[in-house]
Amino acid sequence: TPVVQLTGIRKSFNVGEPNETEVLHGIDLTLLRGEFCAVMGPSGSGKSTLLNIVGLLDRPTSGTLAIGGQETTVLADHELTRLRGHAVGFVFQYHHLIGAFSAVENVMMPMLGAQEFGSEEIAQRAAALIDSVGLTPWRDSLATRLSGGQQQRVAVARALAMDPILLLADEPTGNLDTHSADLVFDLLRRVNREHGTAILFVTHNPQLASRCDRIIQVVDGRIVQADDEAGRKAGR
Ligand code: ADP
Ligand code: ADP
Repeated sequence: TPVVQLTGIRKSFNVGEPNETEVLHGIDLTLLRGEFCAVMGPSGSGKSTLLNIVGLLDRPTSGTLAIGGQETTVLADHELTRLRGHAVGFVFQYHHLIGAFSAVENVMMPMLGAQEFGSEEIAQRAAALIDSVGLTPWRDSLATRLSGGQQQRVAVARALAMDPILLLADEPTGNLDTHSADLVFDLLRRVNREHGTAILFVTHNPQLASRCDRIIQVVDGRIVQADDEAGRKAGR
């Protein structure tokens, strides 16, 4: 079962109003377990809109979207929210951590909202995730005290709290210096390899994109080139 399967996804904003515009014009995309896929394309081409739809933050205007084999366009809002919380992790360009909470508390947040884990298990999982992103010495530091790269690593740990099958990363390295960007990328690569987590990774950095399994190009709301054949042949 593919982790993500989109067929004929269209998205219009301001439907029924004079300024109605279609931003995605029929996107087909399949993402398998363990695939690490870079998403490139000019600013305004629809990459964030696409990620918001795949991440169940926004609904498509038409088309179908299955996550882990579950068709989502038929689901009610509360069912979408539940599936999103359990199946999808997000990392954005700006980390959106809670500054007044410590690193480890930020990682606990998604688990506190769900019913899966007891308090002991939440604490253990959060500590293990903080360790896996190399931040144990800073686990009790307030998020605001951490460097940009450290904050983004906390954001990755938080995104993994519910053990999602899909990680959506919208320019997670866009705001970082080269060294910190490499560390965050290496972390995503490791998560992908070790857990088989499928990743959609929006980036403007061709060098990082070339280290993914596939590259798709979004231009004017269409996928113009899906470079998966080349990627597979190169054994990446
Ligand atoms: P990208 O992530 O590739 O920069 P976006 O998905 O953010 O592109 O935007 C694609 C287009 O959709 C842009 O023209 C943007 O202005 C428009 N757009 C995005 N979100 C909205 C919205 N909520 N309402 C109206 N237009 C939007
Ligand atoms: P990026 O280029 O990083 O995607 P944008 O500035 O395009 O950032 O979009 C930031 C947010 O604003 C997104 O959530 C997008 O959906 C929303 N947005 C973008 N364009 C519009 C618009 N024309 N009207 C309303 N919301 C928009």
